[in-house]
Amino acid sequence: MKLRILAALAGLFLLTACPSPKLTETEAPGSAAETPLPKAPVFDADSAYAFTARQLAFGPRVPNRPAHVACGDWLVKKFKGWGLTVQEQPFTAMTFDGTQIRARNIVARFQPQAVRRVAIFAHWDTRPFADNDKTHKNAPMDGASDGASAVAVALEMARALSQQPDSLAPAVGVDFILFDAEDWGYDATTQANLKNQLEGAGDSWCLGSQYWAKNLLPAGYKAEYGVLLDMVGARNARFSREQLSRESARPALDKIWNTAARLGYTDQFLFRDMGGITDDHVYTNQAGIPTVDIIDTLPNNATELFPAYHHSIDDNLKIIDRRTLKAVGQTVTQALYVE
Ligand SMILES: [Zn+2]
Repeated sequence: MKLRILAALAGLFLLTACPSPKLTETEAPGSAAETPLPKAPVFDADSAYAFTARQLAFGPRVPNRPAHVACGDWLVKKFKGWGLTVQEQPFTAMTFDGTQIRARNIVARFQPQAVRRVAIFAHWDTRPFADNDKTHKNAPMDGASDGASAVAVALEMARALSQQPDSLAPAVGVDFILFDAEDWGYDATTQANLKNQLEGAGDSWCLGSQYWAKNLLPAGYKAEYGVLLDMVGARNARFSREQLSRESARPALDKIWNTAARLGYTDQFLFRDMGGITDDHVYTNQAGIPTVDIIDTLPNNATELFPAYHHSIDDNLKIIDRRTLKAVGQTVTQALYVE
């Protein structure tokens, strides 16, 4: 994901180079007695951890590199192996530094016959350089939390749902939509010495979701809501209620945060509002899917928005924590069963 904050003004999103999140503490979850949560599949954090490690073992999933192709093929194979219906959406694009990339979005559908649908979004590519690193700015990075963890949660959700008896099937179909080329964007705070060749031509981030929003796959795609997973695997991850998510997908956001609270994950899901972030949900919201962004950000009113590992070589397997994967994966899985 990227560094920029967006602000809604007269229906336009104004992008600024320097994140300056407006943070406000808000109410805690309600304590009223509630009916028990419906039974949902168990999200296996060990499995999600293994899916994270497996992606990293390919090497950085940077478009045009063999590791990227191999990982994409593996993702398709995994979803197909669990019986999901898989579609691939190849596309080409130019990045801010003038690189022509070959990329693909991957769509895997669980219960494709179901009319009511929920979309789970993530990006599966890795940023090509650790430009936020203090000393290794041009080094490749693993993208363990930023990319792989979210894909791993999607994979484990797909596995868990597909292995359940029909009696435990959710009332909704679930579409796992993995975007490519999210993370090859221009960051003015770390790359001021470079020229953004896409300046004036559009957003240099989120190239896969931008393409998908203009070329919906499946055609005419609709969902009741979407959940964008981004940086959901790091130790001590904290998720606040992001502005565009609140404005575009409030019922889904409330459902997810309340479900997290009922499952006991209030250390991760904070009942706290934060400013807007430009991420793939900007484009899925534009495509008519009310989408909530679950993304690891610093909750302490610091000048830094993102954790120190963000876009650095520290974003590797050492920071991945099964507890974070479990909190996110079990919450989003359970939410599918909460009507
Ligand atoms: Zn990123």
